[in-house]
This record gives sequence, structure tokens and C-alpha cells, in this order.
Amino acid sequence: MATMETVAERDRIKTITTHYIDGAFVESHGREVMDIIKPTNGKVIARVTLGDEEDTRGAIAAAKRAFATFGRTTKEERARYLRQLHEAVSERIDDLTAVMVEEYGGVARFARLIVESGVNAFAAAEKGLQELPLRQSWGKTTVTLEPVGVAGLITAWNANALFICLKLASAVAAGCTVVIKPSEMSSLQTRVMVECWNAAELPKGVYNVVTGLGTVVGAELVRNPDVAKISFTGSVAVGEAIMRDGAATMKRITLELGGKSPTILLDDAALDQAVPAALTLAFMNSGQACAAGTRLLVPKSRFDEVKRAMRDAMRAFTVGDPADLNIAVGPMVSQKQYERVESYIRKGIEEGAEVLVGGEGHPAGLEAGYFVKPTVFVNVKNDMTIAQEEIFGPVLSVIAYDSEDDAIRIANDTCYGLHAYVNGTDVRRARHVASQVLAGRVAINGLLDDQQAPFGGFKDSGVGREFGTYGIEAFLEPRAILEV
Ligand code: NAD
Repeated sequence: MATMETVAERDRIKTITTHYIDGAFVESHGREVMDIIKPTNGKVIARVTLGDEEDTRGAIAAAKRAFATFGRTTKEERARYLRQLHEAVSERIDDLTAVMVEEYGGVARFARLIVESGVNAFAAAEKGLQELPLRQSWGKTTVTLEPVGVAGLITAWNANALFICLKLASAVAAGCTVVIKPSEMSSLQTRVMVECWNAAELPKGVYNVVTGLGTVVGAELVRNPDVAKISFTGSVAVGEAIMRDGAATMKRITLELGGKSPTILLDDAALDQAVPAALTLAFMNSGQACAAGTRLLVPKSRFDEVKRAMRDAMRAFTVGDPADLNIAVGPMVSQKQYERVESYIRKGIEEGAEVLVGGEGHPAGLEAGYFVKPTVFVNVKNDMTIAQEEIFGPVLSVIAYDSEDDAIRIANDTCYGLHAYVNGTDVRRARHVASQVLAGRVAINGLLDDQQAPFGGFKDSGVGREFGTYGIEAFLEPRAILEV
């Protein structure tokens, strides 16, 4: 019986042995094979053959050949390609959502939003492109914005569809050709996406996708002199290495890195709305979100009230099967990520923070997968490890403040500066507070997205911006021609 089950399971395991290079799926030269594990039960669901330096160099060469023509396309041609991509991806939103739930454990209701943002990235890039003057002149001077060349796009595992679509959309708008190295943990999601892009029938070589390890495929992209630009989403440590190693070939570099975003609850906030909203920000994407609001700053005068409201509101943050639309928090992506989050919960307890809800260990009945308990710590000091380091799991630190100035000081007392949230009834006051927070984006009274607004970080949260014209400009180089 056991043997039969093993055989049946083996039959269900998908295999991916190809990369997408020069307009076709080609067999991997690299031979290393990696298991893809389903986060809800720890079982192998796919085996992926990882690319090596030779696969990467083949993809770079294809992108370089394609750039000779694609780099000279007009705005109208690029706009047409973006529309083709948008159409092709729009048709498979359900499939893209389902594979994100399966491979990554993204909760279905959030996974769909991520996929839709990825789809919209192509439409938004077209709009941004139309608004961006690629040629300007005055007197006898003409300035044109030229595509920078072949770009290497290296991404994290936590919102694969959005990252790879957003970076590809901006690059295509700029006239760049690309080699994409998605996280190896997003191989199934990437495969469905590449099938969509393939249906869009872009000229061959414009985008190439090599699945593999960061230290192999990613490192080759960073090192290779035929790659002019790296656009990276991931951790600060890898971002630093890319900046350092990319300097040898003077790479243009965009880095989208981590965060420890504050949610500032002003003393006039309506708690029935503000507390559930703050929890949603903390636990979005099961806490595995760079922009998660993981520090909640609460006026001392309302601390007890907030604690009570939080205990009540936490009942809505159910943990479980991410495919279930009623579930708010799914598993962590991997055993490693599970252990990382658990170690931070332990550290918070050791450093003297008080667990209001949650705590260590699996939630009851969910021992098989990488599930953690959504955890709220109160009595947190901003210099504690759980308030300073990015945990990347559903762990919220609640910190008391004395005055508005104190709240702003605490909000900015971090090495990060990716996102911030301000919640209050007096919108003028909320705007005043928002204008003093050192973060690339500050949202007032809820989570808003605007794909024309820049996204990116102050301080250690990154270098450069994505989205809208800002994101397209990151793939462009100005050239001025001056006539006597
Ligand atoms: P990671 O830095 O470990 O990996 C990111 C990518 O870099 C992966 O594709 C990986 O294979 C590759 N890589 C690893 N070593 C490399 C090397 N030496 N050279 C080139 N590439 C290399 O990050 P992760 O664990 O996949 O993602 C989580 C991190 O990403 C968190 O810190 C999170 O905040 C950050 N993130 C930031 C944003 C943003 O927009 N700012 C969005 C999502 C995630």
C-alpha cells in the first residue's frame, strides 16, 4: 500500500527541465535538480532543473541580439507589445492565482490581488510610457531617453507574478531586452507566467527566463559585461552584494529591499476601523510582504483601548488552508522561513515583550505545514530586535508613544524606509505627520495602490524606484545632442 501511494505521488510530481531562451523553451544545460515543496503539507510537488552559467550566458546573448532591433523600436511599437502582454496575461488570472496558492501558500484572496497587480503592470507601463517625453529639444539642443541595454531582473519569492511583470513591463516600455532570474522557489508560478507571455508573441530574445540559484545565475548576470542594468527585489544582504559586484562593470542598479514599516495610529483614530486595518497591514501576504506594517505606534493614552480592540479584531485573522477564501493567514513559504519567524517570536519573549495573541509553535491542527501563529506583541520598545529587524512573517510589534513628535521619531528610528501608514480622523493632521516620515510611500487611512506613483525605499530599503514613469526611467539613459 505504502509503495503504491509513493508511486501515485511520484506521478503527480511535475517536472520542469527547460528555460525560456530566444523565444523558445530549451533544455537546461545545468543539471542540478531542486524539489519544490508545498508549504501546506511539506510534500514535494515538483522537480525543477536549475540553470547554470552557460544557460545564463546563452540567455544574455539572445537578449543582446534582440536589443539591436528592439532598442530602436518606437513608442507606438512598445505600447503595442505592452498591450499584447496585458491581454495574454489577463486571460489566465485564475491559473496564475491557483499556482501561487499551491507553490507559495499565498492566501487566495491576497494572491489574486498580487496577480491582478502583475497584469495591470503592463497597462500602467503603457500609460507611463505615453506620458514620458522620450525626446525634448530647446534651441539647438536635443535630449533623447535611450534604453540602457540588456537588463538582468532578479526577484524574490513572495509576490512573483507582480515582480516579474512589473520589471518586464518597465523594461519593455523603455526598449530594453531582459534576462529574468526569478526566485527558484517560484518556478511553477514563473512557468505559467512565461506560457502567458509566450502567447503574446513578442520578438524572440526580448525576454529570456533562466531559473536557477542566485549564487549561480544571479551572480553571472551581475558579473557579465553584456548586462547593463540590474533590477533587483530581495534582501538587503543580497542587494549589497549586487551593488558591490556590479560596480566592476558599472551596472545601473535598482534595488527594492526590505522594510520595517510603521503604522502610526493618531490619537483621534476611529479604532473600530483603524485596528482591523492595522492588523490587515501587518498580516498581508501572511506577513511575507516587504511593505507590511509590522510596527504599530499607539498613543499611550489609548493603549489599553487598542489592546482590547486588537484582541477582538484578531478573531478575523484565521490561519489555515490558503485556498479557502475565508482564511486570512496561510503558511510560511518554507521550513527555513518557518524557523526564522519562530526564532523572532522566541527573541521577542526573551527580550521582555508581552505576547497579546499568538506565540510560539504551530497553530493547533496545522502541524503538517509551515504555519505559524499570527502574533501580536505589546509593550515593545523600539530598540528590541523584533522592532528593528525584518521578520517576514505575521508578527506585529505594538509600541507606545507620548506625543506626535515622539511617534514620528520612533517611526523614523529604523534603518529601513520603504512604506509607512498613518491613521487618523483629522486628515490635515495625518498629512502633516505623513510628510515627516522617511519612507518611499506613506498611505493615509488604509492601504492604497497607485501604479503611477513611485514605489521604493529610503535608507536601507533600496536604491531607485519602480512603477509609473519613475520605473521606466530606471531603464533609460539620457543622451543630449548639442549643435553649434
Ligand atoms: P533574497 O535576497 O534571498 O533573494 C532574492 C533573489 O536574489 C532570488 O532570486 C535569489 O536567488 C537571488 N540571489 C541570491 N543571492 C544572489 C547573488 N549572490 N547574486 C545575485 N542574485 C542572488 O530574498 P528573498 O528571501 O527571496 O526575499 C525576501 C526579501 O525580499 C525580504 O527582505 C523582502 O523585504 C524583500 N522584498 C522587497 C520588496 C520590495 O519591493 N522592496 C518586495 C518583496 C520582497
